[in-house]
Amino acid sequence: MTLLKSTIRKKGLNNMALLSIGTNAKTIKSDKQGEFLTAILYLAPHKLSGFNVCPKAKNCISPCLNLAGMGAWSITQQARIKKTQFLFEHKKEFLAQLRKELGAFQKKCDKLGKKAAVRLNGTSDLAWHLHKLELEFPRIQFYDYTKVMGYLKARSLNRHFTFSYDGPHNWNDCLKALGQGVNVSVVFKGKLPKTFNGFPVISGDDTDLRFLDKTHCIVGLTAKGPAKKCTNGFVVIQ
Ligand code: SF4
Repeated sequence: MTLLKSTIRKKGLNNMALLSIGTNAKTIKSDKQGEFLTAILYLAPHKLSGFNVCPKAKNCISPCLNLAGMGAWSITQQARIKKTQFLFEHKKEFLAQLRKELGAFQKKCDKLGKKAAVRLNGTSDLAWHLHKLELEFPRIQFYDYTKVMGYLKARSLNRHFTFSYDGPHNWNDCLKALGQGVNVSVVFKGKLPKTFNGFPVISGDDTDLRFLDKTHCIVGLTAKGPAKKCTNGFVVIQ
């Protein structure tokens, strides 16, 4: 056994699935009712693993959804940290496993008669488009939320982005995104308003399939987990 293989084995990474299928309450709801099945990659956000996976995170760091739902369990947090370290310390092996899992997921969807949707930045904001997985897996619809304006150039038929509001400091970038036909997600405390800064608000809570949304809209999300107590501007308090 090579040293590399043995290190990966010691860390218990070789048996750990990277993609989560059917573990997100919102995607379970939409997957059950609709034509899509969704797989999500959850890493340890921001610098939790020792590696920064969220280059533009600011106000969203403390209210990050990382701790919502199953993220509240320490076993989930440990798994996300291990996966992130695996990505940064053994990138080639990580990408090989990811490609294998994407292929298997496509096959599973075909068997079930579902369309495949994959969100690689479940709790991160990495430039996955640089690996051009959307070309290797043309029947998978990739989608993500991002705070990095530069990523929007990578939009294609099967790679979709929703830009994320982080508070008044990134509103100008939000306006630029909206001008390019990219929707902006905003977290609200309590009931969703009808409009935000003059733009219509649609609900992003019923489904996670953002690529089906009409454009030039704010995608309203109600505050969950630690976001319920957020007062730094990331969550809009009405
Ligand atoms: S960019 Fe997204 S994943 Fe990263 S800390 Fe902010 S909300 Fe969490």
